[in-house]
Amino acid sequence: MRRRVTFSRNVTLSLSRTCRCFCKYCAFATHRPHLHTPDEVSELLEVARRRRVKELLVLTGEAPDHHPGVRAQLAEWGFEDFVGYVVWACEQGLERGLLPHTNLGVLDRRDLDRLREVTASQGLMLESVDPDLVAHQGSPTKHPAARLERRPGTGGAEIPLHGGQQGGIGAYGAPRRGARAGRAPGRAPAGPQHGVQHPKN
Ligand code: SF4
Repeated sequence: MRRRVTFSRNVTLSLSRTCRCFCKYCAFATHRPHLHTPDEVSELLEVARRRRVKELLVLTGEAPDHHPGVRAQLAEWGFEDFVGYVVWACEQGLERGLLPHTNLGVLDRRDLDRLREVTASQGLMLESVDPDLVAHQGSPTKHPAARLERRPGTGGAEIPLHGGQQGGIGAYGAPRRGARAGRAPGRAPAGPQHGVQHPKN
């Protein structure tokens, strides 16, 4: 039987690896200033356009502009803050026919609304349902309450949401079983679009 397989070409832009959190398992974050320059962003998107890419995923650490070095660089380039730079990058993607999706971590309502104007969807991983996870000590925005409260789509923001959950990061017992089920223990299924299951260690 013949089957039709469809796919959408996408490109990932890790716009900044500067992060205010200290997750124990992370190999992505730096606590020094890091930003891709506007020229680097434009070049990446131009290559993507030529390759007929249709989706742009913008990833970052949490709140890179908590770092004074990042704020100074953004000001030099003429951006009010880091979300302003992401908005610009998304506009560059839209001009080249790419649909932007952002995953910037926990944001306030104003920033969610700014990104709403230039994105097809936004995302926020729940990460873990365990509020006492050792791996997330030093990462206050990884607390499940902070993530559930600030998910795009909550508070009437009407923002297309891509959600997901990581399970098994040092979690045992009920939290781990809840993670496997894709839901927090005692909560109704939230309908995550993807999950990452870490091996038990
Ligand atoms: S929030 Fe945690 S996992 Fe994400 S970039 Fe920062 S340190 Fe890494």
